[in-house]
Amino acid sequence: MWSSLGIRQKVFILFAVIALVPLVIINIIWIKSSRNQLEQAAANRQNIVASGSAQRLNQLLESKIDSIIANSQELSVTNLRVDEAKQHLTGVVNRDNDIARIALVDGDGNELVVIKDNESSKDLKNIKSSEAFKVVTQLSNEVLLGDVAYVDGKPTLTISAPLIAFNRLGEQNLTSAEALARRYGADIKGALIADIDMSDIWGPVLASELGTGGYAYVVDTKGRLIAHRDQNMVAGTPDLSQTDQVSSFIKRSRFHGLPAETQSEKGIKVLSTHFPVERTGWAVIAQEPIESIFEPANQVTQLALLIYGIVGLSSVLLSLFFSRNLTHPIRRLVAGTSQLSQGNFDMQIPIDSNDEIGVLAKRFNAMAGSLKILISNLQTETTKLNVVLDNVGEGIIATDKDNNIVLANISAAVLAGSLPTDLMGKPFESVFPLNKNNHPFQLKLDTSEVYKVYKEAVYVSPSKRLHYLDIYSNRMKDNPNNIKFIITMRDQTDERELEMMKLDFVSMAAHELRTPITAIRGYLSLLSRDSSSTLSDQGKQSIERAKSSTSQLVGLISNLLNVTKIERGTLNMALEKIDWAKTVQEILHDHEFGAEEKQISLKYEGPDEGVFVLADEIAMREVVNNLVANAINYTDPDGNITVSVRGEQSSVVTAVRDDGAGIPPNAIDRLFTKFYRVKGGIASGSGGTGLGLYISRSIVELHKGTIGVESEMGKGSVFTVTLPAFDEIQYKELRNTETKGTIKRRGWITKDTAR
Ligand code: ADP
Repeated sequence: MWSSLGIRQKVFILFAVIALVPLVIINIIWIKSSRNQLEQAAANRQNIVASGSAQRLNQLLESKIDSIIANSQELSVTNLRVDEAKQHLTGVVNRDNDIARIALVDGDGNELVVIKDNESSKDLKNIKSSEAFKVVTQLSNEVLLGDVAYVDGKPTLTISAPLIAFNRLGEQNLTSAEALARRYGADIKGALIADIDMSDIWGPVLASELGTGGYAYVVDTKGRLIAHRDQNMVAGTPDLSQTDQVSSFIKRSRFHGLPAETQSEKGIKVLSTHFPVERTGWAVIAQEPIESIFEPANQVTQLALLIYGIVGLSSVLLSLFFSRNLTHPIRRLVAGTSQLSQGNFDMQIPIDSNDEIGVLAKRFNAMAGSLKILISNLQTETTKLNVVLDNVGEGIIATDKDNNIVLANISAAVLAGSLPTDLMGKPFESVFPLNKNNHPFQLKLDTSEVYKVYKEAVYVSPSKRLHYLDIYSNRMKDNPNNIKFIITMRDQTDERELEMMKLDFVSMAAHELRTPITAIRGYLSLLSRDSSSTLSDQGKQSIERAKSSTSQLVGLISNLLNVTKIERGTLNMALEKIDWAKTVQEILHDHEFGAEEKQISLKYEGPDEGVFVLADEIAMREVVNNLVANAINYTDPDGNITVSVRGEQSSVVTAVRDDGAGIPPNAIDRLFTKFYRVKGGIASGSGGTGLGLYISRSIVELHKGTIGVESEMGKGSVFTVTLPAFDEIQYKELRNTETKGTIKRRGWITKDTAR
């Protein structure tokens, strides 16, 4: 949530929080403490009013009770002297306005004197069954206090005092009528019953004011309302014992003097406390509406809310202003970066401050400038690279890991007959379907080799032109720019065509020369054999030399023809099962004369027969002929030549060893290439062509064999030919295909060994 907000909103919230939170906290603390103080003050007020009122009420009641007791002890009263008592009691009522009615009752409950409204009443009754008379019948107390009752709308309390006749003087002041009666044998002669008008007594209680709308009222021990400023409410002394406030007082669950929040007798929420009136057990309950207690605090709260509103609004406006001002440059930076990401490097952020954001904007502008230069340099480099790439004669293709084309230069596109862009994303094989030896083939890009060369792959372009390609594949390390392979295609078609033309020419010339030279050789043979010839010895010698030279020429021509066949790939082998041990011995036999002429020993090592190979006999004879002829040729007289044949598990190894001049190490690599001859050796003077070993290698490779040489200068050379051993299954397969006539035997021209 927070992270999804913009910096402006965040700054705004931060400002608002900083401005408002302390204000709110201080206010809460202040309001809380002021409420406590207000509550405490109200509680104090209530305690003072309730306790003061209760004590005052108690005092007044005590004085009334004492006065009644005192009057009950008057002789005239005690002795029930009616006239005297009437006089006395009238005087009492006259003095005390609170006494509404006073009656003198005898022991049988007959009213003897009743003074009411300062007058003696004539209406006298028997009150034996009344509550007030219980003071006589039950001897329960010195005085009996009745319940407060409203008589003629006035609150009235009945006080009954027993009339005790004491036997001894001085006992009048003693309390507890019963105890005294029992102890001293006093008689209870009747009772003095006074109705006290409580209106004036309640006065101070009801007049007390507590804060705003607070007051005190009085309930009796049964929870009945006996004094209340609301006269309507108090009439009939309703029972409040079930109310929250009064019930707690009756149950004494709450000690007096401990203010608590309760429901008032009118159902209002108030803070109230109570104090008991000791003499009667009544309670003065003081209360004050919660609302009015906290009124000042509420006013302050309202004021505080108003202040919050004003401060809040101004802080919102301020934070809006600041957040706008602070984030404006940042937003400009954001806009700048998005323009930069869209490639607008010319954009500049206006700088109008020297703070960190101003520095950032400055750096940003500088960065945009350097980026522009960097990118234009990059573009120049890329253009250069593209120009170079497109002007390279070789077709260059880059592919990704799935072998799809991701880059192609113009030469590659020209080869494919389309535009470079059209090649993008296409698989290499689908654009360049390749062939080799008349079979479709694919580049082996998934091998572990980093660099791979494929020579003479044939590719037919969409315009049906045949191309001979040398292909080089290079695997990239770490796939830069999603490039895995760089494939370079060199078109060798023109070179190849030139080569073919050369081969055609050589082939034609050789063919044309062969017939006349063969004829010349034939005639020279005829001449030399003619015994009746008249030629001188010198003439005969000349003819022999001419014969040798023509033989060399025939050898050269046949070699040239063989080379053209090899180069064209038209040199085919007619394979058959031959006993190689026998064949090699036969070949050596042919060379015995030549070896003898140079006093060179020519030996054979190996089995006489039974070493079979599958080979073209004429061609393989040519190979051994070449090697042995070379050995004789390049070995000084009295040298030794050993030819060995060894059958191994899967191959047949033939070695031609001589102890002749040897071959220099730097010549070994090129020994088997076309027209190569070692310079400066004894060979350079001989009439060789430098084709023998080249032809030999081609023949051996057509037999799936290998040829190699080991040589040491001055010590001699060993040429080793390894051919696969005869394989019956392969032979049978060959026979089958031959009978079907698929392999045609070609003519074979042997190398002239008479060099
Ligand atoms: P050439 O017609 O010259 O003999 P080859 O291809 O048969 O052609 O031989 C190539 C060259 O290799 C020879 O010219 C010679 O210098 C060298 N060579 C071949 N065989 C031997 C050998 N047994 N001893 C020394 N050099 C040899």
